[in-house]
Amino acid sequence: MYKAKAYAAAGATTPLAAATITRRDPAEHDVQIEILFCGICHSDLHQVRNEWKDVMPTVYPCVPGHEIVGRVARVGSAVTRFKPGDIAAVGCMVDSDRTCAECQAGLEQFCPNMTLTYNFPDKRASPENPGAVTYGGYSDSIVVDERFVLQVPRNLDPAGAAPLLCAGITTYSPMRHWGVTKGKKVGVAGLGGLGHMAVKFAHALGAHVVVFTTSPGKKDDARRLGADEVVVSRNADEMQKHADSFDFILDAVAANHDIDAFIQLLRRDGNMTLVGAPDKPLAVSGFGLIFKRRSLSGSPIGGIPQTQEMLNFCGEHNIIADVEVIPVQKVNEAYDRLLKSDVKYRFSIDMASLKAE
Ligand code: NAP
Ligand code: ZN
Repeated sequence: MYKAKAYAAAGATTPLAAATITRRDPAEHDVQIEILFCGICHSDLHQVRNEWKDVMPTVYPCVPGHEIVGRVARVGSAVTRFKPGDIAAVGCMVDSDRTCAECQAGLEQFCPNMTLTYNFPDKRASPENPGAVTYGGYSDSIVVDERFVLQVPRNLDPAGAAPLLCAGITTYSPMRHWGVTKGKKVGVAGLGGLGHMAVKFAHALGAHVVVFTTSPGKKDDARRLGADEVVVSRNADEMQKHADSFDFILDAVAANHDIDAFIQLLRRDGNMTLVGAPDKPLAVSGFGLIFKRRSLSGSPIGGIPQTQEMLNFCGEHNIIADVEVIPVQKVNEAYDRLLKSDVKYRFSIDMASLKAE
């Protein structure tokens, strides 16, 4: 075991603050990574504040962070794909059983024995530490099994690449699943961290992209990011112009909102996929789905092979997140700004700032 520096929340209403945690030494298949950048996902905020208590209650202290890019520091004796000095990445998962049908299919996100990167029972914790949970990327280092470590294309800036590990894969995966391609009309609701990645991907895949935003001030940015049209979703007339026309809508809104208003915009057999995860149930009109055989679905993160595919796609298309790089000491302020939709379009923590703690 060794000591690592981190930023942790001690409780649901306590600001994050500097903390010391223990990490395991790398075993034969493990990679120890010195973390360079970690993105701030809205899921970090939901969990730090225990907003998902009914589904996955938060265990404190909580060290969030699942958008991790860093430099390999040490590798175990059996590691073949990484060596010290390599740039490597870790996303939302750090383990799974590798034997179930989901793992065999490369869909580790559905494995019943999967381990999330933070706030999850840690099967690899030491016997002296029963009940320990995993600690995420708001830290100066992390130790992860090689199977859950990703390769980052060399042309991608590490600060902007970090958010690809959650915001990237969570939007890329359902777009691939639902066949977003040239000729499709695709909507993206909520221009935040996930939403802005969705716009970049849908544009790169050749779709006609329409952004739905509650922030009229984001219109120019939406177009710059790749949108063909921008709709202010609180304007019913603007919405009505797009009735019955979308093949696919990705909803990346972090708060409770009217999803029926978007379902009405789908064409026959159109699909809307939720990736945004508000804490309260959302109301859906059955008729909105029935009359046009529309469907509503959800999608969690993405499997490891597809995460690597997404990173390679980003390498080929030169896609990274638009980031505001902050020192870790500004994390609490960043959370407050997230709640005001005041981020362009992802905070990325420069972990070198943790040295000052
Ligand atoms: P974010 O950066 O805070 O973006 C959320 C966006 O939602 C905001 O920028 C805003 O966009 C819109 N919005 C906020 N409040 C709203 C309201 N009251 N009504 C309508 N729109 C509102 O969050 P994020 O990191 O992209 O995450 C988005 C959601 O996805 C979160 O709930 C997060 O937990 C979830 N998530 C899910 C997965 C998964 O696996 N499914 C993975 C990661 C994150 P506009 O200003 O454009 O309106
Ligand atoms: Zn996330």
